[in-house]
Amino acid sequence: MTEQNKNILPWNDYSSYIKSIFGVRVQKISVDAGFTCPNRDGSKGHGACIYCTNESFSPFYCNSEISVTEQLQKGIDFFSPKYKTQKYLAYFQSYTNTYGSVDTLKKTYAEALNTQGVEGLVIATRPDCINAEILEMIKEISANKYLSIEFGAESTIDRTLDFINRGHNWQQTIDAVNLTNSFGINCGLHFIIGLPGETEEDFYTHAGRISKLPVKTLKIHQMQVLKGTRLEEIYSNKPELIFDLNLENYIRVIINFLELLNPGIIVERFTSESPKNLIIYPDWKGKKNFEISHIVANKMSEAGSYQGKKYSCNKYQAIHIQP
Ligand code: SF4
Repeated sequence: MTEQNKNILPWNDYSSYIKSIFGVRVQKISVDAGFTCPNRDGSKGHGACIYCTNESFSPFYCNSEISVTEQLQKGIDFFSPKYKTQKYLAYFQSYTNTYGSVDTLKKTYAEALNTQGVEGLVIATRPDCINAEILEMIKEISANKYLSIEFGAESTIDRTLDFINRGHNWQQTIDAVNLTNSFGINCGLHFIIGLPGETEEDFYTHAGRISKLPVKTLKIHQMQVLKGTRLEEIYSNKPELIFDLNLENYIRVIINFLELLNPGIIVERFTSESPKNLIIYPDWKGKKNFEISHIVANKMSEAGSYQGKKYSCNKYQAIHIQP
């Protein structure tokens, strides 16, 4: 963390990072390009991840029935009156956005990059859906634009990844990150804290293992049991498998996690808000992400805590990868 950031937030925050690149506020516009998921259609697995829901939480403009250009234009029209000076990134968010032929992917990303006002791409995908050919193509068409690829890693522990029916293992995430980094492309990871069977010790093991990889950005959020998912059934039959995610406990874990995390990794967020009518557990009474960020920032500042405070003496760094 730079001295300047440290004065603002006690973690290496994404807003400051992105502003340092573009000089102004940057808004991601979510795009649904109609890609599906190999963990739903049988090519990598069947039945989906246990927490996956068919409900769409996407904003109104993110709709695969209209073109990528139209989605981006509608998103820009929506956000531009709110903030006078800002730039936009096309965020391919829904499902697995590298799950298609190289030609189809190229056409889709190029359409986004050719949309007026779009300064780059953020592409969310699975670690088992990337290869050198795709990375080379993305790098080529994004020359001089911002580019980041986000992998849904979710856990570093293979028994958890098996249990949640993720369809890939931790080694595949390590390989995907290293391959992406070898192309000089920014690499992000997504993690869920509180997956069934995981203990507090496991969360800190994640922090250590992530810290060793060439990861640029990190998104983490609390596990959420949502209505209609297989996780709902597991939670109702075996609630003892789920870590106590009451807000106070979660905030404590997040602060410890940040202290163990490599200070060079940019933290994009550490909570998520799903629609209230779908949430079974944990019930945080509608607390907003920004409110929780304020609590974490205040607690950390009061305690003299900051991201990476315990990084150099992080015993979890030394743990050999044991599935
Ligand atoms: S990879 Fe994503 S879209 Fe696919 S089943 Fe898992 S959560 Fe759902």
